[in-house]
Amino acid sequence: MTEISKTAPVLVTGASGYIAGWIVKYLLEAGHTVHGTVRDPAKPKGLEHLKALSDAHPGQLKLFKADLLTPGAYDAAMQGCELVMHTASPFIITGFTDANQALVRPAVEGTRNVLEACNRVSSVKRVVLTSSVAGIFGDNADLKAVPGGVFTEEHWNTSSSVSHQPYSYSKVAAEREAWKIQKAQSRWDLVTINPALVLGPSLARSSASTSISTMKQLGNGTMRAGAPKLVMGVVDVRDVAQAHILAGYNPAAEGRHIVCAGERSLLQLGTVLRGKFPQYPFPRKETPTFLVWLVAPLARLQRSFVRQNVGLPLRIDNRRSREKLGLSYRPIDQTVVEHFQQMIDDGLMRRR
Ligand code: NAP
Repeated sequence: MTEISKTAPVLVTGASGYIAGWIVKYLLEAGHTVHGTVRDPAKPKGLEHLKALSDAHPGQLKLFKADLLTPGAYDAAMQGCELVMHTASPFIITGFTDANQALVRPAVEGTRNVLEACNRVSSVKRVVLTSSVAGIFGDNADLKAVPGGVFTEEHWNTSSSVSHQPYSYSKVAAEREAWKIQKAQSRWDLVTINPALVLGPSLARSSASTSISTMKQLGNGTMRAGAPKLVMGVVDVRDVAQAHILAGYNPAAEGRHIVCAGERSLLQLGTVLRGKFPQYPFPRKETPTFLVWLVAPLARLQRSFVRQNVGLPLRIDNRRSREKLGLSYRPIDQTVVEHFQQMIDDGLMRRR
């Protein structure tokens, strides 16, 4: 049992991020003091929402500069904190040449950097780590080896590597590193949140999160000719943020928590969105999988990804998050509609 003081500051790493924005907002609204780390507190774009939150909650939000790869960078921000929420990690799928540099090093060495600071800063009692369902499985094909045909917190991703699904590899490697460091000491405990694909309105207008680019691609005509037959777990960003807070302040919270509202194909998401926004070119059909495989390099998809995911079923069990954290989930249709509306309102999708 770990009691976290309601008056001690909470550290949120990567406070500028898509998910972290909602965590910071809910913490401030609940009256907590938040220490948020960002790579560049002076950057002209991407911090406007944090500035607005700070203005709405005077004196409650303090930003610190910290990069995952700078040793000792998190010590100052962590002083006095009992609860550390470590969300910072690159969530990018394309646009890099060296996966190790772009993803694995910041995820794994960054997690080590943050947790070694927890070992030095004696106020820390609990760390909530933003892991991923990528810590549970790498490809939909992995389900074939799971008795019962549903992924749970018992499962670990063993199929990803630096060359195949490097983002997923970065997440499972970082989570494994976190458990290793936690088990080597006894002052602070570790609770992980393992979200599926996170969608829903963003407070941050500019974010590199693949969540935002996935939603854009659904509505900008990229899949006009057809969507790959790809099923994903989906969850609302606001529910993911609540999961972090429940995990942080519930004294009995422990272990891993899959956070997923349900499974949907790209076509199912497009169909819901087309019903609400008929003027946008959402996918109307699925592309035959052999064609997806053929054009994969043009779409910057790995053929191994297509083989191991497209056309394959997926089932993810969210029972532990509901029973142990008391989390309830928004309907996925509401999540995607509200997300797309926010992108239109913020000028991120061309008005039609
Ligand atoms: P995001 O908006 O891109 O946020 C990522 C955050 O990580 C940003 O605040 C970014 O800071 C920070 N970061 C990246 N590299 C860094 C570095 N070298 N040093 C310090 N900070 C660094 O993405 P997100 O979707 O909110 O993701 C947040 C977390 O959730 C990640 O751990 C991700 O793996 C996990 N997750 C996301 C999803 C999803 O679908 N979105 C699903 C499961 C798990 P800057 O602002 O300085 O770039």
